[in-house]
Amino acid sequence: MAAYEYETHEYDVVVVGAGGAGLRATLGMAEQGLRTACVTKVFPTRSHTVAAQGGIAASLSNMGPDNWQWHMYDTVKGSDWLGDTDAMEYLTREAPKAVYELEHYGVPFSRTEEGKIYQRPFGGHTTEFGEGPPVQRTCAAADRTGHAILHTLYGQSLKNNAEFYIEYFAIDLIMSDDGQCQGVVCWKLDDGTMHVFNAKMVVLATGGYGRAYFSATSAHTCTGDGGGMVARAGLALQDMEFVQFHPTGIYGSGCLITEGARGEGGYLTNSEGERFMERYAPNYKDLAPRDYVSRSMTMEIREGRGVGSGADHIHLNLSHLPPEALAERLPGISESAKIFAGVDVTKEPIPVLPTVHYNMGGIPTNYWGEVINPTDDDPNAIVPGLMAAGEAGCASVHGANRLGSNSLIDLVVFGRAASIRAGKVVDKDAPNPVLNQASVDAAFDRFDNLRNAKGGIPTADLRLEMQKTMQSDAAVFRASESLAQGVDKMTAIAAKIDDLEVTDRSLVWNSDLMETLELTNLMPNALATIVGAEARKESRGAHAHEDYSTRDDENWRVHTISRVDGNKVELSHRAVGVEPLTTEDEGGISLKTIAPKARTF
Ligand SMILES: Cc1cc2nc3c(=O)[nH]c(=O)nc-3n(C[C@H](O)[C@H](O)[C@H](O)COP(=O)(O)OP(=O)(O)OC[C@H]3O[C@@H](n4cnc5c(N)ncnc54)[C@H](O)[C@@H]3O)c2cc1C
Repeated sequence: MAAYEYETHEYDVVVVGAGGAGLRATLGMAEQGLRTACVTKVFPTRSHTVAAQGGIAASLSNMGPDNWQWHMYDTVKGSDWLGDTDAMEYLTREAPKAVYELEHYGVPFSRTEEGKIYQRPFGGHTTEFGEGPPVQRTCAAADRTGHAILHTLYGQSLKNNAEFYIEYFAIDLIMSDDGQCQGVVCWKLDDGTMHVFNAKMVVLATGGYGRAYFSATSAHTCTGDGGGMVARAGLALQDMEFVQFHPTGIYGSGCLITEGARGEGGYLTNSEGERFMERYAPNYKDLAPRDYVSRSMTMEIREGRGVGSGADHIHLNLSHLPPEALAERLPGISESAKIFAGVDVTKEPIPVLPTVHYNMGGIPTNYWGEVINPTDDDPNAIVPGLMAAGEAGCASVHGANRLGSNSLIDLVVFGRAASIRAGKVVDKDAPNPVLNQASVDAAFDRFDNLRNAKGGIPTADLRLEMQKTMQSDAAVFRASESLAQGVDKMTAIAAKIDDLEVTDRSLVWNSDLMETLELTNLMPNALATIVGAEARKESRGAHAHEDYSTRDDENWRVHTISRVDGNKVELSHRAVGVEPLTTEDEGGISLKTIAPKARTF
């Protein structure tokens, strides 16, 4: 057994992650007087949420008629009928409240002439239950909305005496023998000390796993650490096959150009200068949802109408927009286009390509953020002491495809919901759990084995093999043959994790070891993604299957549950929640309105 000295910290709640979800949860917990620690591997305001540009969806009706029922309908349709109805209702009903709270906490939103919060159009957000014109629902702070939210929530959390453990890397969950989460084991990156956090409630808000792919808009820190920890604890992951490609990553670098660019009037063209989205989505054109636009772009390229010398990308045009509007509403992306594509957006189009952007799947939860571990007896069984929120979680509100600006609202609504629930289930006066020493020791053993790994493959090489395989075999379009090959390749790649070579054995700022721990988290996420994709014999949302090109509600309107053990994945299913929280008589949406139908735009 590996012998590491460690310090033990006791809290009511430990939140792992300081992005939008982690900070909103931390703030809500601390406001209620729960002793709260927030553990984060990067400085809070460097979390990936800082890069969110376009905005946050809520039916404030500041720019025209809107209501939560319309927002809910769009979310249900956007999810391609795979989201859970209660969670989607909770999200859209609570959204305006959550945004006004952000405003009162101090988020510097852009303003209308009358001083109200400015809202822009975004893909898939409509009026009249999808029958009316696009709606302006996405609240924005120029094109730096995530930045504004993150800085505000961090300041407010400090004001409420939340305690931050910054640049602490969570290695594994501490679980009791009867399945209760009791805390996390952490490594402090800057001095190499070890820390055990004992808590009555652990909240995983560790973000997505975009870095399982070769080209992604997400930060290098988006390595699915929460999903990795959950998989190692023998718990479930859900709907991992649904990976969102954003239509407009800058060609080459993958850096994001927000959908807000099309919201403000930008449009896509092919090599013939044609605005091809008019053909694919006659009503909503460039503002159709992301899965739709990404597929249309890919078809144009496949049919030989891509732009550039390789005819392998598409143009995003903004130069027809007034330069003042670009400077006021889209200053950040004007700069990104200059730096990453060498393009002056007032004069030339930006070269773009669909790029991995968001993980709809993750750790299954109910709409209070409580983690679910389905059993044969109870498909909604709760894991005591464990919650998940944000991109790491799967409530599920995004189902098979997330609408733009619905993630930032998911972070704050469910971060807040987790804190409301914790306020009810965490007893401040109760003693902390007695830690299961075997679980603590197991975490240190795993850490020590990786630290001393003397195998044949450097971490960076194995990571590249995984990223290239995911990029080619679990892409925008998928087919039986390439998926089957991809599963074989990924199974072999995942087995090589036991043959890693780590060269730096130190404990202080050992980035080799940190990246190795991250790779051990990326791998189960990647494997569950491709195995789930191979098994799903239909097309739904972001999962476009060439050999099964239509949606099959009879057989496949179910969540995929995956359990990963080494390089093996066991799949099962869980019913989609079809019951809303309120009936039509109570002011809710009618079941007829949200009944499944063909998804056209
Ligand atoms: C470029 C870009 C633009 C986007 N724009 C928008 C937008 O305009 N609107 C919208 O709705 N959505 C947008 N999204 C999506 C949205 O921003 C993300 O889904 C969301 O920010 C994720 O937030 P999070 O709190 O779940 O995680 P993150 O912000 O990714 O934070 C994760 C946190 O977990 C911590 N962490 C992770 N692993 C560990 C570990 N092992 N130990 C300790 N700490 C750990 C990290 O330090 C970090 O603090 C965008 C995404 C990208 C990539």
